Amino acid sequence: MNQPTPEQPADVVARLRATFRSGRTKPVEWRTGQLSRLREMLTTYGAALAAALHADLGKSSTEAFRTEIDFVVREIDHTLEHLEEWLRPEPAPVPAHLGADATGWTRYDALGVVLVIAPWNYPAQLLLAPMLGALAAGNAVVVKPSEMAPATSAELARLLPRYLDTDAVAVVEGGIPETTALLAERFDHIFYTGNGTVGRIVMTAAARHLTPVTLELGGKSPAFVDRGADLTVVAERLARGKFLNAGQTCVAPDYVLTDPETARALEPVLTEAVEKLYGADASTSAEYGRIINERHFDRLSGLLDSGRIVVGGGTDRATKYIAPTVLADVDPDAPVMREEIFGPVLPIVTVPGLDEAIDFINDRDKPLALYAFTESDTTRERLAAETSSGGLGLGLPLAHLTVSDLPFGGVGESGMGNYHGRYSIETFSHRKAVLEKPLS
Ligand code: NAD
Repeated sequence: MNQPTPEQPADVVARLRATFRSGRTKPVEWRTGQLSRLREMLTTYGAALAAALHADLGKSSTEAFRTEIDFVVREIDHTLEHLEEWLRPEPAPVPAHLGADATGWTRYDALGVVLVIAPWNYPAQLLLAPMLGALAAGNAVVVKPSEMAPATSAELARLLPRYLDTDAVAVVEGGIPETTALLAERFDHIFYTGNGTVGRIVMTAAARHLTPVTLELGGKSPAFVDRGADLTVVAERLARGKFLNAGQTCVAPDYVLTDPETARALEPVLTEAVEKLYGADASTSAEYGRIINERHFDRLSGLLDSGRIVVGGGTDRATKYIAPTVLADVDPDAPVMREEIFGPVLPIVTVPGLDEAIDFINDRDKPLALYAFTESDTTRERLAAETSSGGLGLGLPLAHLTVSDLPFGGVGESGMGNYHGRYSIETFSHRKAVLEKPLS
């Protein structure tokens, strides 16, 4: 039997644009209806999605629900609760020279057809969270899941059309050729999550059509540990944040920055924290994930001799397992410090004190997150004021991105634009200025 010819990108976009032009996506009831359907999909097929995430990344079901499925459900609920309030026109004071009867306000207009390109590390969350923001803002959306997480991509391509309005939401699966073909089309906004190299390709393609972009990129997020911090708490939180999803988290603490004395004291407590989380042999823990593919496994294995192994170091290529690993005595120029690690390797780098730590951070690309563990108000304030990063986590890694009322995004090399909650509405809308002066 002949396979049906897949719809060409130009036809997909034209079809969605026609729906947008028809006005169907604009009423708030359509938007909330789509979000409710998405919620139903996630609650009905959560287990199927979790199985796909396990197949792609060895993600445990607990982790799949916590960091992907339930995460998106929470974001939907928050949006459903506040959408009307977020969309409300905002009155603006009008200057006296326009007369007392003149009024001004801003209104949120949907943009049109949005393209969302997702990565493989949280392949469900990072596709669905921007998509639901774009729908809530009244747009039609083309979503492109990552081909590197094929089970999740296939599951999303199977489920989304069953639940959502297929004239307004299209799933296009594929890798570089399919994405390149999509990028040739004109979109009204492109939302890309992934690495900076492809981010530049996306932005170049978008420039041809003067399409605005949101780039959610990565980088090396430092974790500064101050003298006198409670190291048992610090180690437990660092290990949880770092080794979640086997370290393949864009906001994972990339490396620890601390003074030599604290570095030494951290070694045994980090070892304890890792063993408490995953046992003495993480390869037997159901909670510990695997590396996405052989290419990344080989890249990460090559970083293990960048320092002295404090804990971990074990690998198994057949199962793409890399043990949660802490490296000490790491030279700032070692290979592990030259690229975003994006895996379960935590180097400890030492600096004499806070001044040098601030210089160390500012000498490098602006990170997606900066974490600091300190009891000192002055240190917190100095780090906040004297460095630049997408987000700042004081005392707890990763958690800022779970707060729907906080904007999530990078700065400089870690990206541009942000989303979550009302910030998604800002991203996927045009804020239109309206001035009215009655004729009589
Ligand atoms: P990836 O390889 O899955 O790529 C992301 C998307 O880009 C995929 O859909 C892929 O098909 C597409 N793509 C790849 N090459 C392309 C090309 N030449 N032309 C057009 N499209 C192309 O994901 P990745 O980049 O390996 O993801 C890891 C990076 O993403 C890390 O740097 C990480 O920090 C970052 N990240 C950032 C966030 C965030 O929210 N800021 C979240 C997750 C990951």
